[in-house]
Amino acid sequence: MIGIIFDMDGVLYRGDRPIEGAGDVIEFLKSHKIPFVFLTNNSTKNAAMYREKLQKMGIEVEEEKIITSAYAVAHYLEKHFDRGNLFVIGGKGLQKEIEAIGWPIINIEDAGSQWKDIDYVVVGLDTKLTYEKLKYATLAIRNGALFIGTNPDTTYPSEEGIVPGAGSILAALKASTGKDPLIIGKPNEPVYEIVKEKLEADEIWVVGDRLDTDIAFAKRIGAKAIMVATGVNTLEDVERSDVKPDLILPSINELIEYLRVALNIRNL
Ligand SMILES: [Mg+2]
Repeated sequence: MIGIIFDMDGVLYRGDRPIEGAGDVIEFLKSHKIPFVFLTNNSTKNAAMYREKLQKMGIEVEEEKIITSAYAVAHYLEKHFDRGNLFVIGGKGLQKEIEAIGWPIINIEDAGSQWKDIDYVVVGLDTKLTYEKLKYATLAIRNGALFIGTNPDTTYPSEEGIVPGAGSILAALKASTGKDPLIIGKPNEPVYEIVKEKLEADEIWVVGDRLDTDIAFAKRIGAKAIMVATGVNTLEDVERSDVKPDLILPSINELIEYLRVALNIRNL
């Protein structure tokens, strides 16, 4: 059985605009009982927030099928490490997912007196980043706290242009601590462990728009790497890159036809 991992931004939608055919593809998968999950490196929203966003675009999917790097970090921590005090740099999505595992969180207001008690520093995209946050994260990591990142993307496209992503905040802390973070999200493998809990399949396809995260991730986990040309990377980028997709589709819309052929061949 094929199981499909979809990236979201640049694949299902761009900003708040759905990409034509995205809803049809999801309905096709449901009606053919092909398992799938949505996997995003974005940690600023949680699954409930994404479900609502997708619903507004006519894409109906249960929360359980949406995996953010925030969810992955929280569950990876729970699975591999002992309960301890957390310090979080990140948006609402990350805060909520971290709160959901019930480990104690040291807030920025208390960090001045409690930074020595921090066991884990978890870092994602934080649009309200301050020097204070970087300072206490640095002190804690230098004091032995484990340094964990949601995703490595140094930038992301916004309506105003290319802006700093979680990877740029990680880079600042790398500079101030001399330590490399354990990064959970794509293209790194830790997130695949979390995906596997929700996606049962013996052949995995990854559909994404970014070579450095989605396509590189597909290669690392031994999946079929399908790039759609509706997002960040272009065909010229593919030519210049060492990371090559197995298949390039103009958009997610063409996936139905490709799936029909693949399923027919299997049924012969
Ligand atoms: Mg994307």
